[in-house]
Amino acid sequence: VKNLKKSFEVKKGFLGRSQPLNAVDGISFAIRKGETFSLVGESGCGKSTTGRLVTRLLAPNEGEVWFDGRNISRLSDNQMRPVRKNMQMVFQDPYASLNPRMKVKDLVAEPVLIHTRLSAKERDKLACELLETVGLNSRHAERFPHEFSGGQRQRIGIARALSVRPSLIVADEPVSALDVSIQSQVLNLLQDLQENYGLTYLFISHDLSVVEHISDRIGVMYLGTLVETAGKETLYERPLHPYTQALLSSVPVPDPTVKRERIILKGDLPSPVNPPTGCRFHTRCPSCMEICKRRAPIFREVEPGREVACHLYDEEMMKLERK
Ligand code: SF4
Ligand code: MG
Repeated sequence: VKNLKKSFEVKKGFLGRSQPLNAVDGISFAIRKGETFSLVGESGCGKSTTGRLVTRLLAPNEGEVWFDGRNISRLSDNQMRPVRKNMQMVFQDPYASLNPRMKVKDLVAEPVLIHTRLSAKERDKLACELLETVGLNSRHAERFPHEFSGGQRQRIGIARALSVRPSLIVADEPVSALDVSIQSQVLNLLQDLQENYGLTYLFISHDLSVVEHISDRIGVMYLGTLVETAGKETLYERPLHPYTQALLSSVPVPDPTVKRERIILKGDLPSPVNPPTGCRFHTRCPSCMEICKRRAPIFREVEPGREVACHLYDEEMMKLERK
């Protein structure tokens, strides 16, 4: 993903003029084959929009998405079709994303109907196999979504995404609507499937404690931009960006000997229609300096495999600030 940008027009107030909301404002990252890359941040930071841009459910205003060595950002819908088969989405709310009037077997096999020429009988057989794969039962095939619990419905959503054997699955808050006990079951299922099918995941969540187990690398987003990317261990052990530090401070630590001081961010999340000048995080940053209000930090590599957008890690800027 290279310098990706997407804005929407929003109306301000009842009779207000419409203004652009830069939902995603120039982000770059790479996902390696077979890994889980997670995007994390508060709601409204642009992570869902990013997921939709990656799978081209949305077209970007600027920037590029490359998939399997090919720039897919400007492909037509027709050209996108075969590519889309390789990238499927799993959504947060299995209630909303599954048509209540369709039988489970038809829901699961719907992408197959769109993308392949399998017969109805073959699709039914495949649906039954997939239901078993995701820990449900082929007897469930003739039932309707409302007969299932939230966790089971998410399994149906996952079977559906798997049906066309994609290489990339974008999972947007796939466990956020589920009870904590069910969350880990679904996360474990996703990990098993990744191993068995060599899947690559873009995993989207507002919750750093959810992605800890499943991620290889993590990107933290704030108001439409990436503020830090790092390998999972590095990020949890030594977060560099003040926003990452604040997010992590509210994640419970299993080891009682480790003390993590809770960082409470001041103020509300600013509106993405009118983001703060300079560093977007400066209105809430506990380490804010004068220069932060004027100059936006550049997102750059500060250690191998780790990028941060913060003046604290930029020697030049710190010299300017000291002057
Ligand atoms: Fe905080 Fe300044 Fe770093 Fe922004 S650039 S995160 S305001 S220290
Ligand atoms: Mg979202």
